[in-house]
Amino acid sequence: MPEKEIVSKKMVKESLQESNKNVLETGVLEEENKGYAIVCNDLVKDYEIGNFLVRAVDHVSLKINNGELIVIKGPSGAGKTTLLNLLGGLDSPNSGIIYSFGVRISDMEEESLSTWRLLNSGFVFQNYNLISTLTSEENIIFPLSLSGMELKKSRERAMKLLIKMGLDDRREHLPFQLSAGEQQRVAIARALANNPPMILADEPTANLDKKTSQFIKDLFKELKRSSKTIIIVTHDDYLIGLADKIISFDDGKILDEEIIEEN
Ligand code: ADP
Ligand code: MG
Repeated sequence: MPEKEIVSKKMVKESLQESNKNVLETGVLEEENKGYAIVCNDLVKDYEIGNFLVRAVDHVSLKINNGELIVIKGPSGAGKTTLLNLLGGLDSPNSGIIYSFGVRISDMEEESLSTWRLLNSGFVFQNYNLISTLTSEENIIFPLSLSGMELKKSRERAMKLLIKMGLDDRREHLPFQLSAGEQQRVAIARALANNPPMILADEPTANLDKKTSQFIKDLFKELKRSSKTIIIVTHDDYLIGLADKIISFDDGKILDEEIIEEN
């Protein structure tokens, strides 16, 4: 564990002040959208590679209530990951508007968007995306340090999350020294670190052993009970069973939205 903080507090403070200013300027808070975790309208995302243009998200409009658990399913190449990245502010659309908790994130400057993400959306990636040179503990401390939490406090928070994930004895391990399931649990702890109101997960139980997969499913059940908004791309029947709404997605479009009343 390095003695120095990863980012100096002064830098964080300045960056937060700057982005708050930008959020006020560009991220207009609109009352009617405030009650929703997501409101998006007519989203389009194209990828241009050489002479080829792929429309990964094709005129998608969607509303997600605060506290809902949404499952997005569909075949490989349907555009699910691209849509998830747009909804969580990891990427910006070519056109269309996204409000998250009333803040317009679709055309935010990258700097403001990264601060917004830090505090509002926790991502769990399909391939974990841990920082390879940082230990489990440091990977979890990283977003805490970026949001300005002092080192002692962030260490305590990281330790609490590691214990919750059953990984307190893997604190000093680097990602390559961890199994796939352990890496995914560290990644989930990192996503939860700043206690964001929205969690986005891209096929979080794919490629995992049965035991870890069940652990992660139970965790999502618990997160749902704590009223977080959760958006999961998955084909896992157990996770689908937790959904308040199942979105079938193909060819960049929503084919069907099924509302599950009993959840
Ligand atoms: P899914 O998650 O449903 O498998 P993706 O969102 O990953 O689908 O991809 C949708 C389409 O967009 C695919 O045809 C894919 O090849 C293309 N695509 C995804 N990411 C990129 C990228 N970074 N650059 C170019 N094309 C991409
Ligand atoms: Mg995908």
